[in-house]
Amino acid sequence: MPRSLPNARPKPLPEALPDCDVLIVGGGPAGLSVASALPPQVRSVIVHQDKEIGLPVRTSGVSWLADVQALGLPEACYHPIYRTDIYSDHETAHFEITSHTVVALDVTATYRHLASLSEDHERRLLLNTKYRGSRHEGGQIVSRLRTPEGEKTLRARYLVDASGWHCAALQSLGLAQPPRRRAVGIEYEYPLQDMDPHRVVLFFGRHALSAYGWALPTGAGTVRLGIGIIQPDSTASPKELMEGFLASGELERMGLPRPGDGMHVNAGILPSAPYERQLVYGNVIRVGDSANMATPTLGEGIRTAIASGRELGTALGAAVAGNETALARYERDSAKRYERNYQFGFLTNSRAAAYGPDDWDRAVRRIRRLDEASLAAAFRSEFTWPMIARTMAKSAWSKLRGRS
Ligand SMILES: Cc1cc2nc3c(=O)[nH]c(=O)nc-3n(C[C@H](O)[C@H](O)[C@H](O)COP(=O)(O)OP(=O)(O)OC[C@H]3O[C@@H](n4cnc5c(N)ncnc54)[C@H](O)[C@@H]3O)c2cc1C
Repeated sequence: MPRSLPNARPKPLPEALPDCDVLIVGGGPAGLSVASALPPQVRSVIVHQDKEIGLPVRTSGVSWLADVQALGLPEACYHPIYRTDIYSDHETAHFEITSHTVVALDVTATYRHLASLSEDHERRLLLNTKYRGSRHEGGQIVSRLRTPEGEKTLRARYLVDASGWHCAALQSLGLAQPPRRRAVGIEYEYPLQDMDPHRVVLFFGRHALSAYGWALPTGAGTVRLGIGIIQPDSTASPKELMEGFLASGELERMGLPRPGDGMHVNAGILPSAPYERQLVYGNVIRVGDSANMATPTLGEGIRTAIASGRELGTALGAAVAGNETALARYERDSAKRYERNYQFGFLTNSRAAAYGPDDWDRAVRRIRRLDEASLAAAFRSEFTWPMIARTMAKSAWSKLRGRS
């Protein structure tokens, strides 16, 4: 006779939330922008694992004035930068920025502004809620969520993966894995002291081999001093590199203030993987970092996440209304915009990740000869055919010389 299990109770089924048209996983710039570009009557739900929008900060927030203006971000969300100094171990390049103005975003304010753009839509924002996975059922997608009130399920027509490097939705459905190659960064944010509030510093070489370091003044009287590395190209710890940098005397050479009281630490992860053309998997679509949309040269992904998020929101609005080609167009237009530039940018990134300190000295000497427009184009991963041809020719020439 089977033994009875006195305490075994059937597990309660998770409560179902009201169905929606579009479930968006991730309340970063990509997910929030998808929601804001959906027609207001489309029922959407954003699932965000953090307790607040825009906190904790996991990014530096460098962007470009022309882009943030075109995206309609309020002036209170950014702070202009008018000069830059680029350092390797023994070289420096200085640029006065006159036409390609850089900005430091107030990341928290920017993300909150993006959230406010869909406040009057039929959308629910579930904070402190973790997306746990999905299954297809009868042409729809049923997802499991862990909310502060317990496990819930939610049925949606479309599922958007805007979960950043986690690729949480694609992973749960076996459509993709988080990329193995990632940029991992750490930032110390502290009072600016006497640093020029409109000067950004980038540094390459022994303190940030395989990626780079930066010092970015914010509009709030602080500076964000960061170091990133690319894994698995480098096995170094960003924190140890940062401590080594602080102990090295380089802060003084670069004219940067030293961290003291009131320091805050930010950290984050960014995919550093080639752009992949497939963004649409039936009714599951990816955008932002989960689709490798950050620039491969500097790892700048906020403006691209906003722009592509809005494009996806518009396409989804059309798809919900019955337009069957809208999502394919989103995929095609994204490939047109990113594919060629990002392929070349990724090649540049992979080569630079193997540079030693002497290579970086040579690179900074080359950078010094660039004009402002060419420097901006390289940083933005926007390459003209002559730039690509020149770089390929140089690379072939140095390989030939290496062989002879
Ligand atoms: C150290 C560092 C510095 C950077 N500096 C810059 C810079 O200067 N300029 C720039 O433009 N870009 C920068 N980036 C890149 C930029 O941050 C990203 O490209 C951008 O944030 C991508 O936006 P996203 O919405 O796609 O993803 P994210 O911003 O990563 O947002 C995804 C959100 O989804 C949430 N989430 C993940 N999994 C789940 C889940 N299972 N359930 C619920 N929620 C989930 C996460 O908590 C996260 O908040 C930097 C990145 C790093 C790591």
